[in-house]
Amino acid sequence: LHNRIQELRGNIRVFVRTRPFLPNDGAASNSSIDIMPDGESLAIQGKHAGEGHGFKFDKVFAPSAGQGVVFDEVSEFVQSALDGYNVCLFSYGQTGSGKTHTMQGSGNGAMRGIIPRAVEQILQQAALMQSQRWKFTMKASFLEIYNEDLRDLLVMMNSDGSFKQRNTSSANKISIKRNQEGKSYVDGINKVVIDVEDKAAGLAQLEAVMVAAARARSVATTKMNAQSSRSHSVFMLHLCGSNEESGTIVEGALNLCDLAGSERLDRSGAGSDHKRLKETQAINKSLSSLGDVFTSLANGSKHIPFRNSKLTYLLQDCLSGDGKALMFVNLSPTIESSNESLCSLRFAQRVNAV
Ligand code: ADP
Ligand code: MG
Repeated sequence: LHNRIQELRGNIRVFVRTRPFLPNDGAASNSSIDIMPDGESLAIQGKHAGEGHGFKFDKVFAPSAGQGVVFDEVSEFVQSALDGYNVCLFSYGQTGSGKTHTMQGSGNGAMRGIIPRAVEQILQQAALMQSQRWKFTMKASFLEIYNEDLRDLLVMMNSDGSFKQRNTSSANKISIKRNQEGKSYVDGINKVVIDVEDKAAGLAQLEAVMVAAARARSVATTKMNAQSSRSHSVFMLHLCGSNEESGTIVEGALNLCDLAGSERLDRSGAGSDHKRLKETQAINKSLSSLGDVFTSLANGSKHIPFRNSKLTYLLQDCLSGDGKALMFVNLSPTIESSNESLCSLRFAQRVNAV
């Protein structure tokens, strides 16, 4: 039933989440974002007096909305992946707006983000569906897209979740390919098995995956003198269910995508630095390609430019056909950020039109 309702409403959704003020935001605590009581509309105040813009989306969270409240609105997408759909969640916004907090969060308690909560929900649901003779397998991959290059963040792990003896972090070349049915997949990427039968073991394996990915990411960013805010990271869950009674097999995927900061980097005086310039162009390329894909989808174009960037090529199945996508627009509440926030909201408006 969930999926029927969702299909009637279109397959791409936009949620806006404004983070609360933080101590580092300084003394001024006037928010540039005004959230309307309907939970779907907001107004943003520009830098100039009297400059204001209104927007409406599928959902607008108050800054006080915690990780659990946000996840409640996401859980039907997670369920869809178990039902055999290709699902993708994005977090989009300027650096410091709460993308990683939303996707990953921190710790083992209330601050956990979507990734650990989604895995936990799948483990719980799979256990329930055992009584109807469903058996599931779950595998996790984690990759990063930096300068239009793909990097496997789990190269240091064996597929059973143990760590490799030798540090082979620069090994295996991965690339996006399409199989005979035309579905995208990542060739050569490591897939770590998450134990579905044993919830505690499954959660421990996820923990190891997150640790390995964070380590791989920080090693790589240090080596290349880069910042992680300049790359996109995609956590992928590959799900396969088979019914022992009917023989039915369903295959779904959940992609959780923490996008590079959307700030317009040309403003930062980075233009003179060749390396930074290349980086900027690559980020703009995949973020603008993502925008172009949404615009083409909204216009009902015959040709959707999925192949213009690694990100859109990778996530093509989630953005077309019966795929499902949800974009979080993360905003900082400060007046200083209002220009960037307005850009993010305008980007999201294109997505919302699909
Ligand atoms: P981004 O990934 O977009 O650069 P982060 O997720 O790292 O931003 O968030 C920046 C800071 O704000 C972090 O310290 C994070 O813990 C905090 N933060 C973000 N969103 C929230 C929130 N909803 N509630 C509390 N703290 C938040
Ligand atoms: Mg981040």
